[in-house]
Amino acid sequence: MDAQVLEQLYEGKAKKVFKTTDPDLYYLEYKDDATAFNGEKKGQIHDKGVMNNEITSLIFEYLAKNGVPNHFVERVDDRHQVVKKVTIVPLEVIIRNRTAGSMAKRLGLEEGLLLEPPVLDFCYKKDELGDPLINNDHIIALKLATPDEVKEISAMAYRINALLQKLFLECGLILVDFKVEIGRLPSGALILADEISPDTCRLWDAKTLEKMDKDRFRRDLGRVEEAYIEVLKRLRSELA
Ligand code: UDP
Repeated sequence: MDAQVLEQLYEGKAKKVFKTTDPDLYYLEYKDDATAFNGEKKGQIHDKGVMNNEITSLIFEYLAKNGVPNHFVERVDDRHQVVKKVTIVPLEVIIRNRTAGSMAKRLGLEEGLLLEPPVLDFCYKKDELGDPLINNDHIIALKLATPDEVKEISAMAYRINALLQKLFLECGLILVDFKVEIGRLPSGALILADEISPDTCRLWDAKTLEKMDKDRFRRDLGRVEEAYIEVLKRLRSELA
């Protein structure tokens, strides 16, 4: 990157965001901090920031090559990325291919049931409310996005799902569910932003159905770091 890193703009749960001398670019730092259950459970996963930086970089490059525009510009070093400056649409866009997590709990379903077609959920990004589930009408009435934008965001989410399911299956992993965030460029164009990593996806080993994601931290299953390392190793050998 030619631009210089300037002051920190924001510190989130998993990343810090810095301004740069280029008004169109931000500099991200991936942290080892891990939270779950709306911040109730806090901890650290050793070198998570390093692993998620590389995992997200590999995945965002793969998605860009396959026609999904995103904010990724370059991975600078172990923990840092340069990204395009966007305004995040305050939505968690979730796709579910199998029941798990909050959906399994809310509907009293066992985990792992196939969902065909995949289920798209929107949550309103508001920490103090615990990111409540909302629907298309809420998004439009609250002016979080226009009707056309909701259509575009939904189409992007399904396309990302198809590409990620294929990629992870080639890595011997089942993509159970995942969350993405969408950003608006100054032009108004919508692009994929934030991260895609074992923090934001549920990934199960295709042979053993072992959990290979943040559920190992959420549920104290042990070998958390090992799961992240394994996901990174498989992606590297698939994409490198
Ligand atoms: N997710 C996320 N951030 C959140 C909430 C969910 O990345 O703040 C991801 C989560 O890792 C899972 C998917 O979105 O892959 C669906 O999560 P769910 O709604 O089941 O909630 P959770 O069980 O994570 O509370």
